[in-house]
Amino acid sequence: MTYPTYHNLIGGQWLPATSGKTMLNLNPADQSDVIGAFPSSHAEDVAAAVAAAKQAFATWRLVPAPKRAEILLRAHDILVQNKEKFARDMTREMGKVLAETRGDVQEAIDEALYVVGEGRRLFGVTTPSELPDKFAMSVRMPVGVVGLITPWNFPMAIPSWKLFPALVAGNTCVIKPATDTPLSTYNLVQALVDAGLPPGVVNIVCGTGSTAGAALVEHPDVRAISFTGSSSVGSLVAQRAAATFKQVSLEMGGKNAQIVLDDANLDLALDGALWGAFGTTGQRCTATSRILLQKGVAAEFTERFVARAKKLKVGNGLDESVEVGPQVNANQIETSARYVEIALAEGAKLLCGGHALTGGAHTHGNFFEPTVFAGVTPQMRIAREEVFGPVVALMEFATFEEAVAIANSIDYGLSTSLYTRNVNRAFAAMRDLEAGITYINAPTIGAEVHLPFGGVKHTGNGHREGLGALDFFTTWKAVYVDYSDKLQRAQIDNAE
Ligand code: NAD
Repeated sequence: MTYPTYHNLIGGQWLPATSGKTMLNLNPADQSDVIGAFPSSHAEDVAAAVAAAKQAFATWRLVPAPKRAEILLRAHDILVQNKEKFARDMTREMGKVLAETRGDVQEAIDEALYVVGEGRRLFGVTTPSELPDKFAMSVRMPVGVVGLITPWNFPMAIPSWKLFPALVAGNTCVIKPATDTPLSTYNLVQALVDAGLPPGVVNIVCGTGSTAGAALVEHPDVRAISFTGSSSVGSLVAQRAAATFKQVSLEMGGKNAQIVLDDANLDLALDGALWGAFGTTGQRCTATSRILLQKGVAAEFTERFVARAKKLKVGNGLDESVEVGPQVNANQIETSARYVEIALAEGAKLLCGGHALTGGAHTHGNFFEPTVFAGVTPQMRIAREEVFGPVVALMEFATFEEAVAIANSIDYGLSTSLYTRNVNRAFAAMRDLEAGITYINAPTIGAEVHLPFGGVKHTGNGHREGLGALDFFTTWKAVYVDYSDKLQRAQIDNAE
């Protein structure tokens, strides 16, 4: 089989890894379909990319922000024109169904539109000085060269959340995409190049996390790392980045709960749970992996949920009738299977699924049955640890307060959802659920780009994408202009 070979983008040139080695990008729905060979890069490739970004920073930072934004606007137009092609590329390399990959590209389009306006804002603050004839203001400055490390589950949307705000703010970037999904990041960066982004402003280096990723985190000329991925790798990234005092933004795992109270619209709660648990094959950081059911609705909800989960069509996401695509690789299948064993050993009751799908249309892909466990208690690992597959745990509770306590009893804190018609409970949940995102009468998935995105506890380290990204990709400078023509000493000359 013939397939294309892709290179790193360094200083405006497409270059192979210096090692000459490549990694194959395989279609998870059909492992015999090779999408392409991508560079297997090491520290020297990363160093070349960082050097190019550093050189480009000298001029890019001086381009007026509205002009930087105009390039992003042209990239937006290119994304719109190529939406269908990019979505098909993404389904082929990542697996999720076409409706969802169209949504992923759309998210990059939305992000571009959102950020383009920032080119004419990037607001700072002016404030009175305590001294006469003195002017005080604070302005946003770019950070410098920023390193972006991204996961495979939103292979265009997540890079766009990082690249677009970083660029409009005047930073230059080196991005290391996930090894399973580099093509979608290439498509995004190519759109920026075609839109007229100067050489070196964005550079791509492909490679594994432990080689290319680690080299980016450790490089002394990289001033900030924006990382999205697992909590275990995020912790490592933060520790390594601390050695060179980098700013680090970490967006990590989740174990998201949907709570259904007795007074909920049950049809709506079922639709939301099905979409939240099995959309993207359960491979969203915001995926619903715990469904907390009040005792009055538990039996009916469970029966109807399992009946619908069993009917979901699992297959190649390029087939428009398929509802659940493959898992991204064989490791993810192993993880799902391992958690099924763990849950059974802990005493949870398997209501449907539990196995990899093989044979027929599933022969060459990484498919796993939509899987539902009941009788799950808060201490079980299946209730506490991220599976990142189509595996969901049903849990029962008696009171609203108990549900909030269970929802909060884990290390993660990304997304939560409450289905109820009781406005008092809804507002109490918005206040009390420990999570970066809370939905009322909507599933745990479905964030919009212009709101803050991120989580608490082991999910994040306090930064936010979307509304909040510019706070990470800029650094404040305080500026004082004294027009009194004399030395004025703050805190001293203004004291009575
Ligand atoms: P991962 O942590 O394995 O990898 C993420 C990225 O880090 C990849 O590009 C990888 O190559 C790189 N990496 C790995 N080891 C590294 C190292 N030592 N140094 C530097 N970089 C390294 O995660 P994944 O499997 O790609 O993605 C799934 C995880 O991402 C899940 O935990 C999911 O919840 C999380 N996620 C979080 C969000 C969010 O915004 N909170 C969004 C999507 C995914």
